[in-house]
Amino acid sequence: MPDQKIKEMSDDGKAHGALCIICDKEFHGHDTDHFTIKVCGVCGAPYFISQGSSGAEIAIKENWVPATREYWIEQQRNVSPAFGFNEKSALNSATNDDIISLRLWLRSKVKNLPQEYQSWPRDADLRFTKI
Ligand SMILES: [Zn+2]
Repeated sequence: MPDQKIKEMSDDGKAHGALCIICDKEFHGHDTDHFTIKVCGVCGAPYFISQGSSGAEIAIKENWVPATREYWIEQQRNVSPAFGFNEKSALNSATNDDIISLRLWLRSKVKNLPQEYQSWPRDADLRFTKI
């Protein structure tokens, strides 16, 4: 399990030398509708940005990190397209196809996902920690 925190992020949103926990690329945070959340510019994984500190913490529950990494490796698509952002936000570059792709992938992997997936409402994506 990789470390859940990215450290040494500077004010420009770049975590110099720090790697995204999901895609393993250098983390460059992109703004979202939530001022405390930035998303990875490569895979779309959301991170909490702490004010007054230099850290960033992934906003995906720890038990969902492995499946989310697997999704990225297999599909190379935005890993959090339904993550609580305003649907019309220009800041969320995910497309409807990204959302459908993720839903279909989750259904196809049900046996390998955390048990809680089976009690999610249809089409819900509850992998994220609370904002
Ligand atoms: Zn990433």
